Amino acid sequence: MKSRLFWRIGFLNLLLLLLVLAAVDTYVVRALKREFLNAAYSQLESLIRLAETNPPQSLDGLQLQEWARQCGRSGARVTLVAGDGKVLADSQEDPAGMENHLPRPEIREALLNGAGRAVRRSPTLKVDLVYLAQRYEFGNAPAMIVRLSIPLHRLEEARFAFRSRLWGISLLILVLAGGISLLYFRTVSRRIRRLKEFSQRVADGDFRPLPQESSKDELAELSSTLGQTAVKLDRTIKTLTEERNRSAAVLASMEEGVAVIGGDQRVIYCNSAFCRDAGIANASCENRPAMELIRHSDLLSMIQKALAGGEAIHGEVVVGSIRTRSLAATAAPISFEGSTTGAVMVLHDITEIRRLERARRDFIANISHEFKTPLTAIQGFAETLLGGALDDAQNRTRFLEIIREHALRLGRLTDDLLKLAQIEAGHMQRETEPVSVKDVVDPCMEVMRIKADQKGLLFEAEYGSDLPMLMGDVRSFQEILQNLLDNAVRYTPRGGKIRVKAAVEESEVVLSVADTGIGIPKAEQDRIFERFYRADAARSRESGGTGLGLSIVKHLVEIHGGRIRVDSEVGQGSTFFVYLPQA
Ligand code: ADP
Repeated sequence: MKSRLFWRIGFLNLLLLLLVLAAVDTYVVRALKREFLNAAYSQLESLIRLAETNPPQSLDGLQLQEWARQCGRSGARVTLVAGDGKVLADSQEDPAGMENHLPRPEIREALLNGAGRAVRRSPTLKVDLVYLAQRYEFGNAPAMIVRLSIPLHRLEEARFAFRSRLWGISLLILVLAGGISLLYFRTVSRRIRRLKEFSQRVADGDFRPLPQESSKDELAELSSTLGQTAVKLDRTIKTLTEERNRSAAVLASMEEGVAVIGGDQRVIYCNSAFCRDAGIANASCENRPAMELIRHSDLLSMIQKALAGGEAIHGEVVVGSIRTRSLAATAAPISFEGSTTGAVMVLHDITEIRRLERARRDFIANISHEFKTPLTAIQGFAETLLGGALDDAQNRTRFLEIIREHALRLGRLTDDLLKLAQIEAGHMQRETEPVSVKDVVDPCMEVMRIKADQKGLLFEAEYGSDLPMLMGDVRSFQEILQNLLDNAVRYTPRGGKIRVKAAVEESEVVLSVADTGIGIPKAEQDRIFERFYRADAARSRESGGTGLGLSIVKHLVEIHGGRIRVDSEVGQGSTFFVYLPQA
């Protein structure tokens, strides 16, 4: 860059200099010539005047030749020409050998006007001469022409001397100016290079400012302006980057799936939640066709409708094959200056909402079903009694007992539902205090021992005296154990064995209730904690179970920060483990 610019400017300057020199040369040479001719003519005029004051003695050829030679001593050539053009005398040549001079322009002019001038090459002397011719009257003789000439070579010499001085000085100036320009240009070019490097640096993302320049010229101004622009650019880029990072972080951490699709149906952005929800395996989905990435036809058609119609489209889709999930999807168009340039799709996971809705529906259906059987029985036997069975002494007590049994069952059901509702709503009043394992186990054992004895079951509890305290509500802990023991007694046939244990495992206290009862099939072990779920429905109902016991237990354990699990083998027995945190 440096040399090209330098040579270009240098060449332009040289051209300018040459033009100026040529103009000066032409003008000065012309002036010189004019000056020289004027001087020559005035010299020739004064010589002619001198000659006129000194006329020849006679018109005799020899006399005339002598006169011409004398006049020629002044340095000029003197020629005397007759009116018919014949050369009569010449100070430097033999007139006899000279041709007729009538065609010479200065002679013609002098014959016509009395005086004539010319600058031309002499055919006689073969040199350039300045001529001055004048009519000369010699007494009564016919008019003659005296012609004087001096050579032009002095003009050439003067011209040559001037030119060599002019060009010599110009060359010197050129060399000097070129040197100074080169030095100056090197400084300027260094500064320009610095600016260029700075721009390159800024383009590469390095916004460190340039050091302040000491000079105050346009380049320094440009440098300072560039510096300020870089600072502003840096600030703007930082702000934009921060904003982008913030938005990206917000979008990335969102639970909702978000995708932005361009007007050309290519994905501009999508967060990981969207990839997960739409079943996109590869996280780098940017700039790929939506058709290729989003396999769900409903989602695709929603995007297309939003892009085409310019209105937000809402819908619900089910995704996944093994574990299905319900998503509420919204595709909203992005409008810019009145036209749709893209669409935003937001996916909201509503699986849990749908699950809860379903659970509530099932729950209501279950409750209705649970209530229906005892109510139908009560209604049936009451009608039988009213229909005359009251008088039947043999059966009425039995009927009344059945009614009472079903009423009790309804009562238990209502109690359990109430408990569950209270626990679920978080309204249950709980004391939080340190509780000893003994305070939990002993009262329950006492209550259950009677039932166990009635059923002929071996019943025992085993726990150390140095066990850590539990933290929570003693009645809730008793409720947990009571329910587990109830089940153990209920599902263990006569002659079986029930054992309650308490121990410490890591930082937890483990209460376990083991029986040698009917056991629970593996496939149902997870579900027995659900409301109204019964592994053995007939036995449960027959023994007065409500199907809510374990779900109450699970809730109570969880609100105390614990967990419950079951180990069971069909025909062998079951062990329920309750893990509770120590006080
Ligand atoms: P239920 O009132 O029917 O006992 P639960 O919620 O207490 O209701 O228990 C749910 C189901 O789990 C019972 O119906 C029963 O099939 C099974 N189950 C609970 N405990 C035992 C156990 N100790 N042995 C065998 N099965 C049990």
